[in-house]
Formats: sequence, structure tokens, C-alpha cells
Amino acid sequence: MTKICSKCKKPAITFIRYNGTHLCKNHFIQYLERRVKRDIKKQGKTPDKSRIGIALSGGKDSTVTLHLINNIFSKRPNIELHAIIVDEGIKNYRDKSIQFAVKNCKKLGIEHHIISFKQSIGKTLDEIAALRDRDLHECSYCGVFRRACLNKKAKELHIDKLATGHNLDDVAQSILMNFVNGDIQKLIRLGPHKKIHPGLIPRILPLRTIPEKEVMLYAFIQEIDFYNGECPYAVDASRGIYREIIDKLEYINPGTRHSILSTYENIKDVLTQKYPSVELNQCKKCGEPTSQETCKTCFLLERIRRINR
Ligand code: SF4
Ligand SMILES: [Zn+2]
Ligand SMILES: [Zn+2]
Repeated sequence: MTKICSKCKKPAITFIRYNGTHLCKNHFIQYLERRVKRDIKKQGKTPDKSRIGIALSGGKDSTVTLHLINNIFSKRPNIELHAIIVDEGIKNYRDKSIQFAVKNCKKLGIEHHIISFKQSIGKTLDEIAALRDRDLHECSYCGVFRRACLNKKAKELHIDKLATGHNLDDVAQSILMNFVNGDIQKLIRLGPHKKIHPGLIPRILPLRTIPEKEVMLYAFIQEIDFYNGECPYAVDASRGIYREIIDKLEYINPGTRHSILSTYENIKDVLTQKYPSVELNQCKKCGEPTSQETCKTCFLLERIRRINR
């Protein structure tokens, strides 16, 4: 039997297990958008005159983020939106997703900027993969270089805040992973960022309270066209385990992911007081901010040079 929306009498299209409501199409859209708006406010004030960057890959999460940020901010006259697309150089994957990213930007009238690994690092990820570094997975290179590219382009564009597409599932997994690994510094540094380090663009996470399935449903209902391919290097085994554990806990006890996030929020301030963030140095090679003498990007570039010799 078709269920009825808990807010009106229309047929429901989804059941939100963690709060026991059935929602019709319009009430689901309203429910998701309200939470995103509320959480963006909670993540820090957006000054009347500012530039917001959106880290865009063309995949589901970042494309939905682009559309939501556009809905929320495009009517404010002094807020500029810029999409930043990183081209890691992964053949048959990133080239395809970039087409979706650009198409969405054009549709919404948002300026986009592409920065490639080849231009800024000197090698594509495919070229790095061909070096066959046995001790370091492609994702380790990719993550460090992608962060560096995003930060570089965001600085060039004078972006005040950079929005990323992490959803509630991603965030809950990262919290649990860092907690289990005892990596308190990483745990504290998870976005959104309140403290602004010179040279580092603060992140906001508009989807951090939205479960992945709801992001998918929103994209489907709003007919958002995104790229659904999988990266050929994606074998992040450890994250997969945390995903499974959290999915099981969520199934047994709906609301677990939200509870992981809110517990983290509650202890973050205490942790930050006990472990104040270190003042960052300038990397002695490239001048970018780092807690070490040389930044991770320069460290990995040196590793590539050594392997190449
Ligand atoms: S799966 Fe790994 S290599 Fe592929 S885009 Fe993600 S981080 Fe980069
Ligand atoms: Zn309804
Ligand atoms: Zn450096």
C-alpha cells in the first residue's frame, strides 16, 4: 500500500528511518534544503560580500553541492560563485566526469576553472601510477596533490570559503577512522574550519548532515545530471570496512551517523583546547603552509624524482 506523506496527504516517495517520517517529493526537497541551509549557517557566517568556491568533480555529491549552493546564494548580489575542477589526469574517468561538471556549470551560469596535475605537479595521475610505487597507493598521491591544487586555485581566485561535497556517510566514516587510529590532529582538522590559517582556504561541507542515499534521491528528483563512473584506482579497503560497520550500526540503530557527527561536534572544542593547532611554517621548498619543514606535496614530488632516477 502506498504510504502517505507525514506532512501532507500526498503519496510518500521515501521513508526517513532515523526520524520515522514518510515524505512526498516536495516535502523531501524542503526537508533536505532546510537542513543544508541551517548547517551552512552553523558552519560560519557568510559575509554579504564574498566569494564561494565549489570543489567540483562532476560526481553526485559535488554536483548536488553546486546546485544547492547556487539555490542558496545566487540571489545575493555580492556573493560570487566559482567552481574549481581538478583534472588529475585519469584517462576514461576524469575526462568524462569533467564534461558533466562543465555542463552543470554552464546550465547554472557559474564560472568554472580547471586546474590540472600536469600543469601544477608536472605529471598526470596515470603517469604517477605507471611508476609503480609499491609502498604508496595512487590515492595517497592523488589526495595530497588534489588538496594542493584546490588550495592554489582558490587562493588565485581570492575565494573566502571552499565548499566540498562530503556527505554524512563520508564524514561519519572519517571521524570513526581517525578515532580508531588515534589520529587526534587529523580528527581536529576535519572540516568545516573555523580557525583561518594564513594561506589555507577554509572549507565548508554543505552536505555533512545529509546521508548519501538522500543526496542520491535529491539528484534523481531534481534531474541533476552527474557522472556515475568509478575511478580505476579506487580500492580504499580501510574506508570500505568503516562504511560497512557504520551501515550495520545505522541499520540496527537508525540515527547512528548523525549521532557520530554530533558527538564529534561536542568534543571538538574540548579537543581543540587540549591540542591547540600548531602555527604553520612555510614549506622551505615551495612556501606553502605546513606543520613540517617541507609540505606533503614537496615530499611526494621528491619521492617521484627518486623513483624516476
Ligand atoms: S579513487 Fe583515489 S585515485 Fe581515484 S580520484 Fe579518488 S583519490 Fe584519486
Ligand atoms: Zn508532503
Ligand atoms: Zn612544499
